Amino acid sequence: MAARFDAIVVGLGAHGSAALYNLAKWGCRVLGIERWAPGHGNASHHGLTRITRQCYAEGAGYVPLLRHSFEAYKTLERESKQARADRRVPALELYLQTGVLNIGDPLAGDALAAAQAHGLAHEVLDPAEVSRRFPGVAPPDGMRTLYEAAGGILRPEAMVAAHCQVAAFHGAAIRTGEQVLRWAALPDGGVRVDTDAGSYLADKLILSAGAWMPKLVPELEGLVVPERATVGWFKPRRPELFAPSRLPVWLLQLPGRPPFYGFPEFGGEPGFKLGAFNERGAAVADPEALDRAWSREGDEGPLREAMAAVFPEANGDLLRFGVCMFSGTPDGHFIVDLHPRHPQVVLCSACSGHGFKLSPAVGLAAAELARHGRCSSFEVEMRMHRLDAARVGHAQALARFATAGP
Ligand SMILES: Cc1cc2nc3c(=O)[nH]c(=O)nc-3n(C[C@H](O)[C@H](O)[C@H](O)COP(=O)(O)OP(=O)(O)OC[C@H]3O[C@@H](n4cnc5c(N)ncnc54)[C@H](O)[C@@H]3O)c2cc1C
Repeated sequence: MAARFDAIVVGLGAHGSAALYNLAKWGCRVLGIERWAPGHGNASHHGLTRITRQCYAEGAGYVPLLRHSFEAYKTLERESKQARADRRVPALELYLQTGVLNIGDPLAGDALAAAQAHGLAHEVLDPAEVSRRFPGVAPPDGMRTLYEAAGGILRPEAMVAAHCQVAAFHGAAIRTGEQVLRWAALPDGGVRVDTDAGSYLADKLILSAGAWMPKLVPELEGLVVPERATVGWFKPRRPELFAPSRLPVWLLQLPGRPPFYGFPEFGGEPGFKLGAFNERGAAVADPEALDRAWSREGDEGPLREAMAAVFPEANGDLLRFGVCMFSGTPDGHFIVDLHPRHPQVVLCSACSGHGFKLSPAVGLAAAELARHGRCSSFEVEMRMHRLDAARVGHAQALARFATAGP
């Protein structure tokens, strides 16, 4: 049995890597365990691009967390440069500001409400103005767009790697290629974590396993639901209109459809990339059995519909596709809280398709919960992400926590 750690973090994706980073910077003796190698494509944080923005249609309550995260992107970039200086390898660029278009209501209206509530810079544009500024974009008549200049593109694999690098620089132990099989609360108030390679002890445990959370915490079954997510890369008919200098990142709401989102051609990735939020029903019974096959009708069809409606010059040949997973909750918000029976364990599940950009704030919140039992930096803002019988689906889960064994 290895020596006891102050804390163990299980799952070094978006949020686990950020939690590890904070704990290590505070001088904690911390271990991070990740099932696959860094940069792997099996979970929710791969694919080279993530959108970040602050005029947040998902709720004005996220804005303070986003403000913190935007500052943290810069800090992390600087720190990863320092951490890598010794090894003379290039620093990781994490963020590119391109601006964000929120096209169509209720998306644009909800983003506007968040902007007004927090005094964020924004412009409301009509379709003609959108097309004048961004000639690859042609919203239908009457469709309102909110433009936010501050948003842009994050590089997810680089950001996870940077959090891990800086954590290691501050002394974190990191074990990759090691799968956590089970964990147990100990009578002395600590935890034991068993992997396919050994066992570890710690005072505190953060579980941040993304779509695998219900495997490690069965009480979350039905509350954190792995969902199939698809993205496609298409060869634009006029590529010059889809460079980052001509096109911001965007979100699109077509009437009666879940939102779409996408990117200019970026970072050596060929093609115009876009994705849909859960067009195919999407719940995945077992993340190990994710259907990774591409359906022309079910997956490609809706993406072509979105391009035909608003980006007609992008609607060329399919170059590449990707299938991955969201971990969704019924209300679309996160679950970041202490385990109801074992307060030495932090549950950290922050996806619903929009969590990556918030990983600096969520990672800090999870680390504070582990260290102090409360989240002092965002006491108010993180309340909406607690387990709470008033949230959809939570009463049933809390009942399972209350009745489940030790
Ligand atoms: C296609 C797609 C597009 C998205 N677009 C955006 C976007 O534009 N903007 C945005 O903000 N967010 C976006 N998101 C959401 C964002 O990527 C997720 O919110 C985020 O990755 C979730 O982080 P996580 O740490 O919870 O899970 P993950 O990032 O999936 O990390 C979980 C980690 O746990 C590991 N793990 C699981 N089980 C075990 C085990 N037993 N032992 C050890 N390790 C284990 C996994 O291997 C994985 O590395 C998108 C997600 C997807 C899928």
